[in-house]
Amino acid sequence: MIREKIVKSVLNKHKRRDAWFLDDYSVNPYEGCGFNCVYCYIRGSKYGENLSEKLTVKSNAFEILDRQLFNRAKKGQYGIIALASATDPYMPIELKYERTKGFLEIILRHRFPVLVLTKSDLIIRDISLLKAIDERAILPTDLKNTLHRGVMISFSLSTADEKIAAVFEPGAPAPIKRLEALQVVKTEGFLSGINLMPVLPFISDTDEQLEDTIRMAKSYGADYIIAGGLTLFGNGPTDSKTLYFKLIQKYFPEQAERCRQLFDSSFSLPAAYQKQLEQRVKVFSKKHGIRNSIIGKAEI
Ligand code: SF4
Repeated sequence: MIREKIVKSVLNKHKRRDAWFLDDYSVNPYEGCGFNCVYCYIRGSKYGENLSEKLTVKSNAFEILDRQLFNRAKKGQYGIIALASATDPYMPIELKYERTKGFLEIILRHRFPVLVLTKSDLIIRDISLLKAIDERAILPTDLKNTLHRGVMISFSLSTADEKIAAVFEPGAPAPIKRLEALQVVKTEGFLSGINLMPVLPFISDTDEQLEDTIRMAKSYGADYIIAGGLTLFGNGPTDSKTLYFKLIQKYFPEQAERCRQLFDSSFSLPAAYQKQLEQRVKVFSKKHGIRNSIIGKAEI
């Protein structure tokens, strides 16, 4: 059952622009997420083990967002809005509730640029709305000469392997659906790419897997691929660290110990691992002619 709640604010302003995704703001049309990825950073006691059980619709969100964007636009505070940062905007319930569609209509009215982050092919439903935003959005002054686009669409993958994805992202559309949706939005002329994150240590971070995913991203038309490592939080029964290690033990027991060691004393991976991952992604991206940032050119 979907819950409803009244909210006081919808638009989150970041202290500084995100260096990877260029967003200055974020909005979340829902609370909780039916895709239920085991590594999701929103996990914890608030939502329980099954994130979809506490899915919540913000019933007054349209009027609040409309007011907040009106006030920002009046002061010329244009910036890229990430849709979304703590839920997927295109879960199946979007078909019924259309909160994401409503958010996009408000974003268009106030002419803000938007970065859509999703694991779903349902985004194709909103192509005409997104085209209108792409044409009409007002960019922040310092991005006007480099970005030239009002819409960016990033599809998230932790792996291109269907079986592995089914273990770690049990409620999300299969990776191939995301890649096919990427191909559609590229055919429609959008700036679009892949967030390869989180890369799963010893599972989707092998040379073979990494190169395969980068090669597929390129062949489906991605303009960019941005990779990032896994973070795992908490030791409670519904925290991502606990649940992730349970799955590793069950499906990849031979990797369990060294994976545990990586997260021995921290929520993030050791700096040396991250640096090596970054380097390898760079090498494969160069080989396949795809860049590692939203703006710029691929290294040759
Ligand atoms: S799609 Fe994103 S927000 Fe939803 S469960 Fe997965 S990681 Fe979390």
